[in-house]
Amino acid sequence: MSDFIPDLNKIEPISQTNGMLDPFGRMVSYLRVSVTDRCDFRCVYCMAEDMTFLPKKDLLTLEELDRLCTVFIEKGVKKLRLTGGEPLVRRGIMELVRSLGRHLDSGALEELTLTTNGSQLHRFADELYDCGVRRVNVSLDTLDADKFAKITRWGRLEQVMNSLEAAKKAGLQVKINAVALKDVNEHELEPMMQWAHGEGYDFTVIETMPLGEIDEDRTDQYLPLSLVRQRLEGKYSLLPIPYKTGGPARYVKVEETGGRMGFITPMTHNFCESCNRVRLTCTGTLFMCLGQEDAADLRVPLRESEGNELLSNAIDEAILRKPKGHDFIIDRTSKPSVGRHMSTTGG
Ligand code: SAM
Ligand code: SF4
Repeated sequence: MSDFIPDLNKIEPISQTNGMLDPFGRMVSYLRVSVTDRCDFRCVYCMAEDMTFLPKKDLLTLEELDRLCTVFIEKGVKKLRLTGGEPLVRRGIMELVRSLGRHLDSGALEELTLTTNGSQLHRFADELYDCGVRRVNVSLDTLDADKFAKITRWGRLEQVMNSLEAAKKAGLQVKINAVALKDVNEHELEPMMQWAHGEGYDFTVIETMPLGEIDEDRTDQYLPLSLVRQRLEGKYSLLPIPYKTGGPARYVKVEETGGRMGFITPMTHNFCESCNRVRLTCTGTLFMCLGQEDAADLRVPLRESEGNELLSNAIDEAILRKPKGHDFIIDRTSKPSVGRHMSTTGG
């Protein structure tokens, strides 16, 4: 059992400040929280098979995560995404979701959501809805069971399919996220789009990013989305639409399917000019950019005082250091642009 049982009756409503403005005039209103670096899959583009995870004692407690998130919400965060590692393998995670849901009730937070690999979602879908979650991102790179097992190393497609069913029944809106992988799923992206739209899901494709050492060569995996888009445009009418979810995806409406398709292109089209987000790890480290090493330690100010002033000042200082952007490169000679894995910073 987890030790985190928030007494929601005792929690005061929060009053929000005017927001966190970075040096480039971007308002930071989106926080992604990696609640654990652990995962029950080992996707080939994300992790090495024999990953070393953080000792459990280094993790912030759920209570501490709740306090940190609450301070961010007070400072202007409107959208909060729980991610990981796999967020749904963290013990007691639903207590954190329920507790954060109070900020939806008060109107301070506009959206509470999560990114999941779908392995456990069937167990939590109803409860997530009950806590105020309305949309979830489910990562799925293929509909072929053998290929799925190869990509995730430890996953089974059936688990994810059951979860998608459960999410639908629970009333959760689903977006399928697929990482585009050369020779692996590149010719499956079109049927996946057809399937996703047929099921009523949005479908987003993502370019693989050079984050952390993996067992394979990233040059072999990398597929530019400009190519994917060009191929789709040969067969479908992709109409750019202003739809925004607060994230980096650019959306089109696919006229033939009536569905929405997103493109996340960190490599071929840098989207940093409109970046509105920061990322918090499960140890309380704040990364102001997914693609840079600079970070701020929030665990010390969190633990040093019961009040939130030190923490709030540390966040202000960190936001002033938010860099202009990332500079990812994938080639055979270079090491990963950033040493830490996506599962550490949270995707
Ligand atoms: N485990 C959850 C999942 O897979 O949805 C949440 C964390 S995972 C790190 C978040 C997203 O990052 C997933 O959609 C995954 O496909 C993507 N991802 C992981 N490593 C990546 C990389 N090197 N480049 C691009 N996307 C990556
Ligand atoms: Fe786990 Fe998600 Fe990384 Fe796959 S992408 S290994 S599911 S954290």
